[in-house]
Amino acid sequence: MLTPADVRAALRRYWLIMAAVMVPSVAFLLVVLSSISHRIGHTGTDMSRGLRLIAPMAIFAAIVLPVIFYVQRVTLVKCPECGKPIYPKQVDVVIATGACANCGAQIIDGQSSNNRWRGP
Ligand SMILES: [Zn+2]
Repeated sequence: MLTPADVRAALRRYWLIMAAVMVPSVAFLLVVLSSISHRIGHTGTDMSRGLRLIAPMAIFAAIVLPVIFYVQRVTLVKCPECGKPIYPKQVDVVIATGACANCGAQIIDGQSSNNRWRGP
């Protein structure tokens, strides 16, 4: 059984790591793009100029998307029943209902986060 505090802590961890990963990555992408567009100047056709800007974005996406999936897999709380992660947009619903947004199993320990069951 999870507690609302577990879910919220995982969400906080997720956003912290996501910000730590995304902010420098996006800054790097912008630096690369502006240096490329500066270097390209007004030479070449519109299409070849566009391609030279799209390529770094595609490479960026190819690197960053797996990182996002990895961060989600590592930080987000997983449903003990179906094993699927509880995504940020589902957290409020999961905490309010106590049920997994994917399989509907009761995964949150009632509203009794103050007196947790501490085992036998
Ligand atoms: Zn589930």
